[in-house]
Amino acid sequence: MIYNTLGASGLRVSHLGFGASPLGNEFGSADPDEATRAVHCAIDRGITFFDVAPYYGRGLAEERLGAALLGHRHQVVLATKCGRYDTAHFDFSAKRLHASIDESLRRLRTDYVDLWQAHDIEFVSRPQIVEEALPAMRDVQKQGKCRFVGITGLPLEVLHEVATATPVDTILSYCHYNLLVTDLDDILTPFARDRKIGLINAAPLHMGILTEQGPPDWHPAPAAVKNAGKCMVEACRRRGDDISSVALRFALDHPYVSTTVVGMSTRAEVERNVHTMESGTDAALIGELRALKPAAAL
Ligand code: NAD
Repeated sequence: MIYNTLGASGLRVSHLGFGASPLGNEFGSADPDEATRAVHCAIDRGITFFDVAPYYGRGLAEERLGAALLGHRHQVVLATKCGRYDTAHFDFSAKRLHASIDESLRRLRTDYVDLWQAHDIEFVSRPQIVEEALPAMRDVQKQGKCRFVGITGLPLEVLHEVATATPVDTILSYCHYNLLVTDLDDILTPFARDRKIGLINAAPLHMGILTEQGPPDWHPAPAAVKNAGKCMVEACRRRGDDISSVALRFALDHPYVSTTVVGMSTRAEVERNVHTMESGTDAALIGELRALKPAAAL
């Protein structure tokens, strides 16, 4: 495993990160015992960065991850989130966030998280994030319940705007750097590098599009993106290559991102993804697949 420093935070994180949203059944029903074994297998293979949220399975993913990490908390860098609690339920008020961290710590069976992130900030007003949520999160940091504070979301311009208005330790972007799309690098990567903000790239499989099993029903991407993904899956299949391995390898090769977070809930996925981490890149195949990318993604 390779380890990188997450911006100026100094946190050392595994280059391959464990996304725990599948533990909350976000990609179909996960077997809880197998999910526990997947977490242990990931730790054995050197994965140290784990990302979860109250939103994933409405507390279930944090519960399951917390149970699996009993006795292993000291081995991992644990990231969770706040402010998003259901598909359309957001609450970034200071009062809610102070309660939220205590709920997360209870479910995760720990007394601090390494990284606490405002989850999907584009759904509320920018002033509320900048003037209320992030100051409340800094208060929680002073209390020792989180070590660092970050933001997550989909629109790159919103992440950029908020991180320009107020200092953040990390930015988690998803579905903006993978085989289908690379616009993370237009503004956000140089910005994060200049400011020494830790950059986390999530969903290297475009939330399931770049897998043999395909995306979940709730996937919000337009048909053109899903079709481009399907063409990439078929092109790999014709060559006898595994689309998920090729896609993950592409994302892992990003020059600045500290950790690439892929959703996993089985040992087989962990083993395959760690193997990909240790494999080389097939530049010709990547070129062939990138030629199939859509004009715009998600
Ligand atoms: P992803 O692109 O990582 O895809 C996950 C899907 O791919 C799951 O169905 C998983 O079972 C499957 N998969 C994993 N490895 C595989 C393999 N080797 N072969 C075949 N299938 C494989 O999407 P994601 O899980 O949504 O994103 C990763 C993580 O990033 C999440 O779990 C979450 O922790 C984080 N995330 C955060 C945000 C946010 O903060 N707004 C948004 C998206 C993702």
